[in-house]
Amino acid sequence: MGEDTPAVPSADVEEAMIFRLVREKDVEGIRRYLQDSNVVPIQYDGEGMTPLQHAAYRGGYEICRLLIDHGADVNATKHAHKYSTLHFGVMSGKCDLVRLLLDHGADPTAKNTVGKTASEIGAFVGNHDAVSVINNYVPLSSLDGPFKAKKVTAEVRAAIENPMHDLICTGNVHPVSVINFAEKQISLVVNAKLVGEILEYMMNREMSVDGDANTILAFKLHVLSNYEKLLSTACSSEDKSKHLLALKKKFLTGVEPDGTQEYMEKYLREVIRLFPFVQSPMIVSIVGTLADTKIGDHPTAITLINSHLNGQRMFKNSEPCVACGAESASKKCSKCKSVSYCDAVCQKLEWFTHKRFCQKFLMDRLAAEADKKFTIA
Ligand SMILES: [Zn+2]
Ligand SMILES: [Zn+2]
Repeated sequence: MGEDTPAVPSADVEEAMIFRLVREKDVEGIRRYLQDSNVVPIQYDGEGMTPLQHAAYRGGYEICRLLIDHGADVNATKHAHKYSTLHFGVMSGKCDLVRLLLDHGADPTAKNTVGKTASEIGAFVGNHDAVSVINNYVPLSSLDGPFKAKKVTAEVRAAIENPMHDLICTGNVHPVSVINFAEKQISLVVNAKLVGEILEYMMNREMSVDGDANTILAFKLHVLSNYEKLLSTACSSEDKSKHLLALKKKFLTGVEPDGTQEYMEKYLREVIRLFPFVQSPMIVSIVGTLADTKIGDHPTAITLINSHLNGQRMFKNSEPCVACGAESASKKCSKCKSVSYCDAVCQKLEWFTHKRFCQKFLMDRLAAEADKKFTIA
């Protein structure tokens, strides 16, 4: 695009240009094109797809952001099978892209011609992390009422609104994951008492919706509000990082003989017990399962809670991180190969307790492998 390009190109040229740039993932080209032409890119190709839909399908976060910033409508579609931009986004498997679309008003309830939502299509193609982003999403505007009800000042609101929104949208409520997040978003620690009260208010509001209560969301808000109560103890602490690290270690400490994270299990079972809406089917199911499970056996409380938040997954092929509960933990302890971690940071955090059990885990694994060989022979 040169200086002498007409300000508003003819429709054909314009269409060909933007679709070609998106196909070629030419971020700079698109940036220049949008600056030069100042065209709102709501247009359709022969398949009824918008440039944004093509960009979403190709997983191009930066291109999607550019198009949205220039007025692209996230819900526009004339696709023959009524796929929305969110359907294409979830097929790309890119979590940040899916979140971007939701933040800009993508409708998660939109269905294609065979009645499938984006979340269902994502599960079908195995993009579970992206599905989790959709299933755990709540619009930022859902915080308006609670902020007003709690008379939150503009200044405090500016500090806690976005961190709270991200916190509520998480699909992993492992205490260490939440504490890690709060450590980065320190306003959640400084204002922990208030944040806890707002979350509790939101939980009660969710359960008072006539006939259509979102029990899973209410339960998540309940768990998070309890963590905020814990975090409020760090408010007055001189050295907040030290206080938070001690809290994380308390949750991760393993006990004899097998390294069970006993404190965490007992804490979460108590939090579940305190959920005020005991009659909800989800809670009946969780409580029933835990009643039959000894502390130290599987499933653990955190596994059960996270699997409810993310829709029970039938085909799990990875162990969650033993330090923070994240699903995509691809690293293993190099010695015992029995526990999974996200990365070296999580491994380092949990080493203080794992080092006591690593040798035992190694022996157990070798014994189990020998058994297996013997049986096959
Ligand atoms: Zn981790
Ligand atoms: Zn080990």
